[in-house]
Amino acid sequence: MKTLFLGGMAVTMDKERRVLCADILVDGDCIASVRPHAEQLLPPEDAEVVDVRGKVVIPGLVQAHMHVTQALFRGLCDDLALMEWLRERTWPLEAAHTAESNAASARLAAMELIRSGTTSLIDMGTTQHEDAIFEVMAETGLRGLFGKCMMDEGEGLPAVMKEDTDACLKETERLIRRWHMAEHGRLRYAVAPRFVPSCSQRLLSSARDMARQNGLRLHTHASENLGEIRLVESLCHERNVLYLHRMGYTGRDVVLAHCIWLDEEEKRLLAETGTHVAHCPSSNLKLASGIAPVAELAALGAGVGIGLDGAHNHMDGLEEVRRASLLQKALTHDPKALPAMQALEMATLGGAAAMGQEEETGSLEEGRKADLVVLDMDMPHSLPACGRDIVQRVVYQATRENVLHTMVDGKFLYRDRVFLTLDEKKTLQEAEEQCALLMRRAGLCGDVSGIAEKNGKRAEPDF
Ligand SMILES: [Zn+2]
Repeated sequence: MKTLFLGGMAVTMDKERRVLCADILVDGDCIASVRPHAEQLLPPEDAEVVDVRGKVVIPGLVQAHMHVTQALFRGLCDDLALMEWLRERTWPLEAAHTAESNAASARLAAMELIRSGTTSLIDMGTTQHEDAIFEVMAETGLRGLFGKCMMDEGEGLPAVMKEDTDACLKETERLIRRWHMAEHGRLRYAVAPRFVPSCSQRLLSSARDMARQNGLRLHTHASENLGEIRLVESLCHERNVLYLHRMGYTGRDVVLAHCIWLDEEEKRLLAETGTHVAHCPSSNLKLASGIAPVAELAALGAGVGIGLDGAHNHMDGLEEVRRASLLQKALTHDPKALPAMQALEMATLGGAAAMGQEEETGSLEEGRKADLVVLDMDMPHSLPACGRDIVQRVVYQATRENVLHTMVDGKFLYRDRVFLTLDEKKTLQEAEEQCALLMRRAGLCGDVSGIAEKNGKRAEPDF
């Protein structure tokens, strides 16, 4: 199956960062060629021609850190700080998930991602029902690294989420055998201990060994919040990233989400070891966590990707790139900080590198996977076009409203704003139904017509 995207303005993100009016030929799951449109080559006879003249084609965005398991919690966890957010809402809700509700959550998230220009993600699930997430990703067509969340200790954790260390490792091993490299390598496993306060030393070291023995990514949270790093210091008697480094959680195969509260030594360490940082602007703003110094980290040499993280209201991958750029300007009081091209690099190439797939995705180049997004920029918020820089338009003006087509592995997941791998109506209905059941199980009112907490205090989960 061949597809020719004819005459779009391609933001290639190749080594020269070329932006050109191009014909992009997709053959099977890969990009076969990116040629200047002016060459006017005849399309191969067996290719379907998709006329994208006047449109912008970008590599699909890569979410470097996410929790699709939390999409159903949208609007239930507002206006709380991290530890409160976890203990009071997110963990009890995660604990109440069944395979059905986890699948409904993943499907709802997949819908949002596909329609806002994301083609890949690095996801941390919850402690249970990870198969449901893999099954949804197999069916919806997104690419990514997925891994069950690992937790075996910590204050405020619902009993069902406090895993027996050996059982947690055994389940992780099973999931690796079942899902790593599924769907012709589109789905891969990442070993995902949640964060230092909820993992014993034995769990962290065994998880690290399991990841390294299997050549997998290690994915965890680090230094997101002041309360969290103080908690780690009281538990481990050293700074969070220094402890993670001592435990082997730095290096080119490690993705650390957030990295806001770092001292100079920790910044240098992340850069020297080539550790990947997943910057999550909306999440950091919503939980009032702080602003990660990602422009500085990137300048020092750390890898940086951008991620939507968890249930922090709507998820728009394009809006998140803009937000990342704006935050660095505010942090440094320098309007030139994290310019459009660098922000887009983080959202594409940086995320692909975090996945360990920089040779496979993240750019529009011959031989790369056909993971791309077509933007229709002829909208009130993204015009005029005359004389404007295309990359700046994409980063500072585009939102999910501009997404016209999304393709992963050479397959359209979204075409002319229609989902091809998801039943839109059914997905939304299931999300609503499963959310009501989930809230009831978590001891929250399950009235779908208006979400309200049961008079005052949350009841204890009854499972
Ligand atoms: Zn997270």
